[in-house]
Amino acid sequence: NKITIAIDGFSSTGKSTVAKQLAKHLGYVYVDTGAMYRAVTFYAMQNGLINKIDFNAEALIYQLSNIEISFKFNESLGFAEVYLNDVNIENEIRTLEVSGYVSQVATISEVRHKLVEQQQKMGKDKGVVMDGRDIGTVVFPDAELKLFMTASADTRAERRYQELIERGDDVDYDAVLNNVKERDFIDSNREDSPLVKADDAIEIDNSNMTLDEQFNKILQLVKM
Ligand code: C5P
Repeated sequence: NKITIAIDGFSSTGKSTVAKQLAKHLGYVYVDTGAMYRAVTFYAMQNGLINKIDFNAEALIYQLSNIEISFKFNESLGFAEVYLNDVNIENEIRTLEVSGYVSQVATISEVRHKLVEQQQKMGKDKGVVMDGRDIGTVVFPDAELKLFMTASADTRAERRYQELIERGDDVDYDAVLNNVKERDFIDSNREDSPLVKADDAIEIDNSNMTLDEQFNKILQLVKM
């Protein structure tokens, strides 16, 4: 009998890494909800609705029906990549520029409503590992297993920095650290579905855990 696994937490706490491991191990579907907020943000950037000076939230709300987000499993990567109106944008949404705008976009209730509805549809048959900021609180409040991941801000920025460097992006560490802190602040303080630990979520601080230690610990929780 398949369950729903909800993984929430602050930015760059390794949610997607462990979610992918779990999904692969259990034969579950992995859904990266952050990718969906990033896809909406990318649409806003492409269509001139958001830049350093200006954010036209009203226009974005008006155009939401033009935004179709989907996932397609990539065999060689071993996870599903995100598509915006049938165009693969998996790489484009991981830039520091998108990270710089996404939390603002995620404050908009209309955006959240649209994405939450789609997420609930994707997970309705269980056998899903979903990661984000509001999965255990809003999307699947009845999830059988809820995890809340934490790690120190420095640990998280260092991880995100390495990821961006490995991609070949030209970024500096302080900019990455500031972005992590800024997103945590906006995500925790927005009015609609702020980032909070669900009462029944199990908190995992992985600052000093190896990936194997973390995976084994979580696997034990799944089996309970
Ligand atoms: O998970 P990731 O870091 O890619 O998420 C990017 C941003 O999308 C978060 O900082 C947050 O602003 C937003 N988000 C959200 N709710 C989710 C997932 C992501 O608000 N369920």
